[in-house]
Amino acid sequence: MTNFISLAAPSVQSLTPYQPGKPMSELERELGLSNIVKLASNENPLGPGAMAQQAMQTALADVALYPDGNGFALKQAISRKLDVDMARLTLGNGSNDVLDLIARAYLGPGREAVFSQYAFAVYPLSTTAVGGICKVAPAKDYAHDLGAMADLIGPDTRVVFIANPNNPTGTWLTEAALDAFIAEVPNDVLVVVDEAYFEYVEEEQYPNTVQWIERYPNLIVTRTFSKAHALAGLRIGYGLSHPDVADMLNRVRQPFNANLIALAAAEASLADQAHLQKTVELNRVQRQSLSEGITALGLGFIPSVGNFLSVDMGREAGSIDQALLQEGVIVRPLANYGMPNHLRITVGLADQNARLLTALRKVL
Ligand SMILES: *Cc1c(COP(=O)(O)O)cnc(C)c1O
Repeated sequence: MTNFISLAAPSVQSLTPYQPGKPMSELERELGLSNIVKLASNENPLGPGAMAQQAMQTALADVALYPDGNGFALKQAISRKLDVDMARLTLGNGSNDVLDLIARAYLGPGREAVFSQYAFAVYPLSTTAVGGICKVAPAKDYAHDLGAMADLIGPDTRVVFIANPNNPTGTWLTEAALDAFIAEVPNDVLVVVDEAYFEYVEEEQYPNTVQWIERYPNLIVTRTFSKAHALAGLRIGYGLSHPDVADMLNRVRQPFNANLIALAAAEASLADQAHLQKTVELNRVQRQSLSEGITALGLGFIPSVGNFLSVDMGREAGSIDQALLQEGVIVRPLANYGMPNHLRITVGLADQNARLLTALRKVL
């Protein structure tokens, strides 16, 4: 029989598929459980606000039509909100899509991407898929070590990926540190600052990178509607960059990568400041109480500014993860991130966090 594996492009053969959090429906099927708590994928437990829900309902009437391939209305809304020229915007099928577009446009065989150990799993995937080379800088206390990352930048480096805050660690970089780093990066190396969780960050020293976009033409900022905006299932995110970079990303973009319902919901969500504020406040309060609950169990965790905590189980966490599943609680094991003792737990509603803590106490 034909070997369809060896027939694939070598860069594709070497990929390891992304491991998503276990869907609730799958666990329900496997264990016959109901009332499952999923704290595995950093989703917003409140769900989208009323304005986004209404926009989705309205958009349903038009799904026989192709969406606006240029996403004009959403781009205009983002442009106004952030005071950034529309020509700097690239819409993606999730910000993951934008990361992929960057890899397709700027990486490839012989070209290097620099990122940190424990950084978001999509960076090596997108880089390797196009035949690019991954240069992984050792982390310091699980956080990005910008000095170590700078040391890896060489003549073949085209892209640096930085997640701020980072997933799965929840660690973050200050304005001063990130600014000093970008200032030192050669102008012909793109610095991608992935801000999937920026809405959650309330630290005073957290940078407003959008304001740097004109000062640093090689800066790309990516954001998403999947996390605080609660639209993960719709797949919509965006990149902010120099217009010429946006032009290049646009050339490799699928014509209708952002779907009609997502475009409408994202635009409405952007206007719903009250729901976003409610989301951020809930996360602040519940992250604190979850932290206290974890500490009370005698466990340590990496301090996080996102909507998740990576908890150190003090031993290999795979069996604890399995035992939690038996209790109907889904969290995210981090062995594939090289963190076999950690479980990443999304901050949920008060009762969800309580269920998690009760289950964790029982299985420990
Ligand atoms: C969730 C996440 C993304 C991408 O999410 P999308 O749903 O594709 O927008 C990007 N970066 C990080 C660090 C994330 O955690």
